Amino acid sequence: MEKQVWRYMPLFTCLIGIFTACKKAEVPQQPPDTDPIQEKKIDSKYLLRIHQLGFDTTGARNYDSLFIVEGDIPMAKSFLDTVKLSSSDKNGRHAYTNTLLNMNNIRIFLSETFWGNSTYYQGILRAVQEWNGVTNSSLNFHTISHADAGYNWEIINATLPGGILALNDYPGLPDINGVPGYNILVDMDYINSLNLTYRQISWIIAHEIGHMVGLRHSDWDLRGEGTGVEGANYFPNIPVEDYSSLMRAIFDINNDGSVLFSSYDRTAISTLYPLHFCNLQTYIDLPNSGPSGTISGSIYPSYRGSVDLVEWEITNNSGFSYTYSDADPEAVIPILAPGTYTFRHRIIISKGCTSTWNVRTITVL
Ligand SMILES: [Zn+2]
Repeated sequence: MEKQVWRYMPLFTCLIGIFTACKKAEVPQQPPDTDPIQEKKIDSKYLLRIHQLGFDTTGARNYDSLFIVEGDIPMAKSFLDTVKLSSSDKNGRHAYTNTLLNMNNIRIFLSETFWGNSTYYQGILRAVQEWNGVTNSSLNFHTISHADAGYNWEIINATLPGGILALNDYPGLPDINGVPGYNILVDMDYINSLNLTYRQISWIIAHEIGHMVGLRHSDWDLRGEGTGVEGANYFPNIPVEDYSSLMRAIFDINNDGSVLFSSYDRTAISTLYPLHFCNLQTYIDLPNSGPSGTISGSIYPSYRGSVDLVEWEITNNSGFSYTYSDADPEAVIPILAPGTYTFRHRIIISKGCTSTWNVRTITVL
């Protein structure tokens, strides 16, 4: 762990200067209302608006259609729903970077640090499934735990500056310090100290994936983040602020992570990466060689999402043949005698896409 932290120490000093720091655990824009006499809980979007208007939200009271703030100032909900908070170029709308991904199958490598931790693994898989579940998008995400087949991104455990849960790279910007591919840095120690659930971790990972494909914070302009080197372009088809966006900059610790994408998040993704072609590839998440115990047993498609059909074929020159074809993503590879085998794998997913056959030569020692 210490070695890993040391290894990546230069990365995030670099990242801080160039990239966006994400999701502080505190909610500085939303001071918690701790007044015990408040009549009803105030929705966080109204607390944020009141705060953005320059009023103290401590002790704000909720009377259905009316809030009372700072003791005696009435504010109608209808006013907060419609008030223009700032000039027209600061409207809390989703935005995207100048450069987008130039691929649609993204392999994410997970080291044992993550796949060996059920809370994180569940969280990461749920985030990937959420992304793969955007039906009008051509993006396909694959998690792999063996680096042999190559990968595009890696999720890395790192110690990050105070209050930061995770960091990202944006597409098109230079690779960092020779580390292959682009990376999501996650501060596991900090996340663990907050006792976040796998659902909350999936919120964090799904948010970081959003940046990795070019989504800015959906409230970037209200926060004064500026366009930065990555750029910020509004979506012509998203005309309003999106309070429930996964891409809000601050992770609210009270958010249980049960809901990830908002409908506008899905609009943003399908606008940038529309499903006009499939180009679905899949990957065989096994090492190039290993003992039978490593190669055999349960195996899943690297693509995690709704799968209509999973196919495996394993053959060798001695006439061995194993086939699996089923909607169940879990296939069980039998014990294989030492030798060299040809693995073929293909999936069909609910978007109507059929992957190409992936072929690997794997040696059982
Ligand atoms: Zn962020």
